[in-house]
Amino acid sequence: METSERKLLKNLPQVEEVLKHSLMRELGETMPHERLANAVRAEIGEIRSRILAGDAPVFDAESVAAGARSRALGLLEPSLRRVINATGVVIHTNIGRSVMAPAAIEAVNDVMKGYSTLEYDVDTMARGSRHDHCEKLLCALTGAEAAIAVNNNAAAVVMVLSEFAAGHEAIVSRGELIELGGSFRIPDIMRQSQAHMVEVGTTNKTHPFDFENAITDETTIMLKVHRSNYRIEGFTREVSLSEMKDIADRREKETGQRVLIYEDQGSGSFVRLDQYGNYTEATVAESMAAGADLVSFSGDKMLGGPQCGVICGSKELIDRLKKNPLARVMRLDKLTIAALEGTLRLYMQGEDAINTIPTVRMLTESPETVRMRANRLKEMIDARIPTSAATTQIIPEVSRAGGGSLPMFNIDTYAVEVTPVVGDVQECEEFLTKKCPIPIIARISKGAVVCDPRTLLDDEELEIVAEGLKAYFESL
Ligand SMILES: *Cc1c(COP(=O)(O)O)cnc(C)c1O
Repeated sequence: METSERKLLKNLPQVEEVLKHSLMRELGETMPHERLANAVRAEIGEIRSRILAGDAPVFDAESVAAGARSRALGLLEPSLRRVINATGVVIHTNIGRSVMAPAAIEAVNDVMKGYSTLEYDVDTMARGSRHDHCEKLLCALTGAEAAIAVNNNAAAVVMVLSEFAAGHEAIVSRGELIELGGSFRIPDIMRQSQAHMVEVGTTNKTHPFDFENAITDETTIMLKVHRSNYRIEGFTREVSLSEMKDIADRREKETGQRVLIYEDQGSGSFVRLDQYGNYTEATVAESMAAGADLVSFSGDKMLGGPQCGVICGSKELIDRLKKNPLARVMRLDKLTIAALEGTLRLYMQGEDAINTIPTVRMLTESPETVRMRANRLKEMIDARIPTSAATTQIIPEVSRAGGGSLPMFNIDTYAVEVTPVVGDVQECEEFLTKKCPIPIIARISKGAVVCDPRTLLDDEELEIVAEGLKAYFESL
């Protein structure tokens, strides 16, 4: 060790010494001594490591106390908190996918405040099942005989494969062996579920005969996976659910063997959105009608509910899933059940759901409607920022449905483009995210900050964006 390092280490203050500093003593009034001491130790520890790494910071008792103070206070700052989504990406996994409808929030609030009927049946005054709260609604909305909701769609896939394909063969097209964000890969999930994966076809083309030829006595499932985050175009062929159904029916007639058809639908949708844009997604009901024995989907993608995964199917199959130990491992908590039930009930109102469920509204709102919000946002910004600081303009842009929900799906929109005259566009974007009380996530394009009001929820959010921009230009 060099002598300079030795000297620096010797100069490190003692924990007790830092604790006596006025900055720490003040904190001591509201925080236990041990918590403060831990913060001081952590601060000194970090400085020691930096000294040993040859990267010694300048320090004294005061700076160590200040560092320890912000460490101690840092733990009191909420980590998970609200942000403003000005990106125009509607279902954005990094910032929480779906925004809950007011009715769902109310349902959660009600259940959160006190005890609830989570597993209690008021009619029989006896134990009930948490699976019952949403099942009837899910059946009414999908035409399925039975349904179960678990923690997310990834869990749903594991559960279905574990119950019906563990130790057996599951056939899947090579064109659908997807990887999603957060290390969800179909081949790995198959392994995890102890299903023997049988891949058929090629990347671009899979034919019905590929499935038919691959069926053996060991086959229990044919799997169809939604290509949520990519597209195959050109010389392509995929096997539809009804073609799978024909194959399964033929097999059953010839040999008595039942091969289940399971679709991992990814996003899942209860209403056709074709009239609102380029949507061609089949609904869960359509997949069930086309011949799927089981369909699973996420609750927080196009459905616009809380994070969960729903599996629909016949009573016989869903009953088997309910008895699988994984149903207990992956069961939903009461807050999620309340939010899901609240959201599903909105879907019972039919077309109205498009306006009452924020995710669905944002996916379907016409560019003209968004343009009116863009106008209001532009006015709010113009009223706060002089043209000598920044210029604003309404521009045609594209919003995105969001990764992992609809492949590369673009929605026409109008955005407000803010071009700084003074300051710097990168710096402005950073200010909005890091320095504003509620972080504002925007995009940069061609030297300007672009705010897409499609994902700004109301006038309050427009105002927060305008105020954030104002604060940046005033900080210069
Ligand atoms: C998103 C998605 C999943 C994972 O769903 P989560 O609810 O995020 O767990 C699985 N399969 C497909 C096809 C998906 O699009």
